[in-house]
Amino acid sequence: MLYLHVPFCKSKCVYCGFYSVANLHGKESFLDALRKEVRLRQDYLGKNPIRTVYFGGGTPSLLTLNELEDIMRLLSDTFDLGNVQEFTMEANPEQLTPGYCAGLRALGVNRLSIGVQSFQGPVLRFMGRRHTAEEALKAVDNAAAAFDNLSIDLIYGVSERDNAHWREDLRTAFALPVRHLSCYALTPEENSILYKQIERRSHAPVDDDLAAQQYQILQEMLPLSNLQQYEISNFAMPGFESKHNSSYWNHTPYLGLGPAAHSFDGHSRQWNPANLKQYAENMAQGKDCEERETLTEDDLYNETLLLGLRTRAGVDLSALGARFGGLRRKALEEHFRTHVAPEHYRIEKDRLCLTATGLWFADGIAQSAFLV
Ligand code: SF4
Repeated sequence: MLYLHVPFCKSKCVYCGFYSVANLHGKESFLDALRKEVRLRQDYLGKNPIRTVYFGGGTPSLLTLNELEDIMRLLSDTFDLGNVQEFTMEANPEQLTPGYCAGLRALGVNRLSIGVQSFQGPVLRFMGRRHTAEEALKAVDNAAAAFDNLSIDLIYGVSERDNAHWREDLRTAFALPVRHLSCYALTPEENSILYKQIERRSHAPVDDDLAAQQYQILQEMLPLSNLQQYEISNFAMPGFESKHNSSYWNHTPYLGLGPAAHSFDGHSRQWNPANLKQYAENMAQGKDCEERETLTEDDLYNETLLLGLRTRAGVDLSALGARFGGLRRKALEEHFRTHVAPEHYRIEKDRLCLTATGLWFADGIAQSAFLV
């Protein structure tokens, strides 16, 4: 798996905690540092084949087609991309003209993930998004002419949108030619504008009850679509689940390039500084990561539990027993029998899965079973 973090945005959305700078001045130095990083880390994945490529950010669609072509040439000259099945790029609606979409497709991108977030003007304005609802619809239309595999993101639990408007947004999304939908509960990340607004009391804290109600509405309305939930925040038509994200959940090794990008080799995680200047300096000095963390067997067990329980497929108990020992498997089943509400989980065909209602509590349920 290959991930590229493109660290540019036109402006910052209020809820966003991803690393990006709100201008394009550093493009040249980013591209230059990226060339160095690719040379430096070309052997990182060893014999692990690259099956998915993902350009995220930031806003990758702020790169021109020529810049993307250069990056693609760099990657395909360095890595074996012959086994790539899925090549996703995140895009914002403003950039998705018919010509840009066709150009992306010609470069090999075969899946587009569009940051729509809402179809309601007041919600988009509150979030600091740069597009209108009409522009989002037009962008999806343009993208659908070039891509079969389209995903859009929506955010719920926003106090500027009541339940009736959330239902309206879902109906609009279900009517679009998209095969995949990601719905995230509004979470003010620590370094986000909204987090600071809440701290200063210029915005009310996020309403967890509203988010829970709107998650429930999403569950109720899902049968009106062709989508099925496969992870707490992700819904797809059968066969259109994100291969890239599913691989993270399976602990597949990945190489992350660009500032703030993380990499995982199966045992340890490394990451680049969340700072474009520092990233460029590191690469100029041949420093291939800012920090490194070696995962213990307990860490890997806890992550297997957390990532698995967030998916509808759940945790494969046989694989868990084979990897971490039969005693741990037994202890886990016992923990669920004694500490987890029966309506929140089930064990079926050797898989421990949370129910649709249980998924809402996935993080807490997983943490209650962690090894500390
Ligand atoms: S949500 Fe996307 S567009 Fe908005 S600031 Fe974050 S990365 Fe940039």
